[in-house]
Amino acid sequence: MATRDYGRPSTDDHDEDRPLLHGEDNDVEASSDQSVWGRFKRQVSATFAPLAKPDELRPLERFLVIFSVALLLLAAIFIGLFAGSQHKLAHRPASPAPAPGPGNPNSNPPEGDICTTKDCVLAAGEVLRSIDETVNPCDDFYAFTTNNWLKSHPIPSDAGLFGTGQYVLSENSKIIRQIIADAPSVKDVESMTFGDEQTEADQRNLAKLKGYYDSCTDVAGQDKLGAQPLLDVLDHIRTLFHSHKHGKYEEGNPPASSHQSYFHVRSLDEGEKPLPPNQPPGRSPKPHLPHESPRPTPPSSERQKGLTEALAWAHSRGLPAFFEINIDGDAVKDPTAATPWFFPSGLGFPDQAYYDDKEEVAFYKEVVSDGLRAYDNEVKHGKEQKVSKKKGKKGKKGDKKGDKKGDKKHHEEQRTPLAPLADEVVELERQLAEITPDSEEITDPVASYNPINATKLPYTFGSINWQDYFSALTVRTPERLILSSPKFVTSLDALISRTRTEVLEAYLIWTAIRELGTALGPNVKLRAAAERLDRYTKGVDADAKENRETVCLNDVNAALGFMAGRYFVQEAFKGDSKKRVEEIIYSVIAAFKARLPELDWLDEKTRKKAEEKADAIRVMVGYPTSPNTTDAVSVANFYADLSVDPSNYFSNRLASSTRMSKRNWASVGRKLNRDLWDMFPAEVNAEYSPQGNYILFPAGIMQPPYFHVSWPSYLQRGAFGAVAGHELSHAFDPDGRLYDKDGYLRDWWTETTAQEFQVRQACLTNQYHSYTVSDGKGGELHLRSNFTKGEDVADAGGLVQSFKAWKDELASGGEVVEAANALLPGLGYTREQMFFISYGISWARNIRTSEQVKRIRTDPHSPTRYRVNGVLVNMPEFAEAFGCKAGKDKMASAPKDRCNIW
Ligand SMILES: [Zn+2]
Repeated sequence: MATRDYGRPSTDDHDEDRPLLHGEDNDVEASSDQSVWGRFKRQVSATFAPLAKPDELRPLERFLVIFSVALLLLAAIFIGLFAGSQHKLAHRPASPAPAPGPGNPNSNPPEGDICTTKDCVLAAGEVLRSIDETVNPCDDFYAFTTNNWLKSHPIPSDAGLFGTGQYVLSENSKIIRQIIADAPSVKDVESMTFGDEQTEADQRNLAKLKGYYDSCTDVAGQDKLGAQPLLDVLDHIRTLFHSHKHGKYEEGNPPASSHQSYFHVRSLDEGEKPLPPNQPPGRSPKPHLPHESPRPTPPSSERQKGLTEALAWAHSRGLPAFFEINIDGDAVKDPTAATPWFFPSGLGFPDQAYYDDKEEVAFYKEVVSDGLRAYDNEVKHGKEQKVSKKKGKKGKKGDKKGDKKGDKKHHEEQRTPLAPLADEVVELERQLAEITPDSEEITDPVASYNPINATKLPYTFGSINWQDYFSALTVRTPERLILSSPKFVTSLDALISRTRTEVLEAYLIWTAIRELGTALGPNVKLRAAAERLDRYTKGVDADAKENRETVCLNDVNAALGFMAGRYFVQEAFKGDSKKRVEEIIYSVIAAFKARLPELDWLDEKTRKKAEEKADAIRVMVGYPTSPNTTDAVSVANFYADLSVDPSNYFSNRLASSTRMSKRNWASVGRKLNRDLWDMFPAEVNAEYSPQGNYILFPAGIMQPPYFHVSWPSYLQRGAFGAVAGHELSHAFDPDGRLYDKDGYLRDWWTETTAQEFQVRQACLTNQYHSYTVSDGKGGELHLRSNFTKGEDVADAGGLVQSFKAWKDELASGGEVVEAANALLPGLGYTREQMFFISYGISWARNIRTSEQVKRIRTDPHSPTRYRVNGVLVNMPEFAEAFGCKAGKDKMASAPKDRCNIW
């Protein structure tokens, strides 16, 4: 739920190079944050959790799709000819009315005009192919709307899930793949002449995209490079780690930076903690008084220096060891001030709960041991080669801050095997998991806001030298930081202090292997452990074939998302799309406001403030203005600091994550750039930012089955309208409501209204907690509804608001509105029914049990079945549309049991 704004630097700084992050340029606008907590926090307000890799259609599926589309096209042509009209949204009187299908619950067909355009016929075909009319919609609406979609969209063998989100992503990827296929190579561009600046920038941009993609799909080239690119990284980390080691680790030496006592949480600026008075007991700001005593053993200064350099370097490359620092607004002092936030990180498993399971820990020990052994073998092999070559050339070039000539020889002798330490690395991670706070705590805006003066950090966390750490990463040492969990910080310091030096080293090496191993060629042994771990947590077979094209298209988007987005938008977000989407979004905001006076639990004062906040929300649709993706030069400048080598995928990936880290740090001490997006145009997602108070919808999500500009309004509103309502509702969900219209974490609720909100929220939390999924071991897992509450509230509000906005549109009447709401041919469902069917279909998703279990632990969204059924049981409008009996049918709660907030 964090805002990922990044400051645009002022232009008065020129020489800003940092040792580890060379070449901070002056046009830093930053890019999407890749950090785990950054991603995680973002998920809270996003529509989806990060999407798993989609697959391409298999040949048979492709044939069936083409075949059915061809049939539909034929049908469309015939109907079109018959109707004798080719209007954009043709409609004709309802005679004959569409006959209800065999399982259709409507005994009488609905009456009204019928839309016979090609897009309507295609949409009708898609609906028919998705729904299962053998299921009673009042029994299980999710099954009714998605059963046949689920059957025809199996999970690709190398993925953990496949749903409409992945389907749309794979369609978007096809468009980008075609753009890349048509693009010139870097070589081609060199021999071109250009008439104008835009054309030249476009050709160079396209060549860059192609270069990155080609490097990724060139698996033979990656195999040829072997393990060396990663070995260079690992060697560098070890060299830094030992760069100050003159003797054995001396226990009891005080840290170089400080002779004062270890951190005590009272040294925090507690006076600056927000104190929203209307918090339930569990939500009041918790200073987490640490009980770490006796004090942890201080590290020796040599060890501290080595760890500081190795850790800063790893973080500068985006490797998440022990913790991560993200740059975001200061929610209490100034939401526009780029401020470092300290988050827990560094676990190899997706979540701490894995470390409680013996079977999973046993598996993990095996993987870590394999990974480190593969590395040891490479080192041994390399040494033997060096010896046989006798005195060959000296080390490779690269980032060599720590490679002092004399030290190098000394360090090479120190390359002790690390595989024997595998169990201790896992134990270190297990203890790290133990001190890692719950996701509920870390996403709680109040509990996770703990500002501290940077000068006090050494007393809090003495294991590294903070002055040196910051100097390595940024020219402006931050004045203050925000700790998401002070208790974690002190516990981590203690954990590092009591861990043997060689285990820390092995952990850093394993972290790099785990994160970067998959950037190596498929036949490179050092890659295997990282891949095996990734597949295990997704529940994917160890020998499933990877779809390289899909992986690479996702990777191109991650590295060059605004560049790819420029050309994606030109292809896939044309005409009136942006205008219509904005119409829908603003109508949903209007419906939200119009509903406020009807909510009897909301008092006058709070209602006014809610209105003000709704009015202040910024709406961002399609593509950003910073960088301006309608301008080829703006996009080229934005990525000028990422050079791409078409023959070296590893270096491209490392360069991309280094660039992100650099841009992140470059904004410290500046104002955040309020126009910068943290989602890319082709991304299939949407978000609300509480600190930026904006809702954002990339062009990537405005695609079928969420949206099509020529669809009837009820289809658009049941799917995309609900997404718009969802993001809007985040501004008023249990966490979002704590921020005011300007993005400050500042209470604007009266006490009574806040209490009323709590009562309604508890109703939803209880409802969702009663839902379960299989744990894959014969048992069931309840949803962690205290963790998913924000998303559940947003889902509930989103659909209600979209329905109201649509009804308001219908009530406004007129020919245009009528035409925009014509019935679909051949279905026999009413418009109200179609609104809800569109909603149900938009959440279709197949998921493997392991992936589902992982998501119960890590994903703040409820499983999609409950995102549909859990919302609809509370909506009398749904029960009425399908004739479900309240209190009797499963899909219709009795009025007294309904949970509603907005
Ligand atoms: Zn959300």
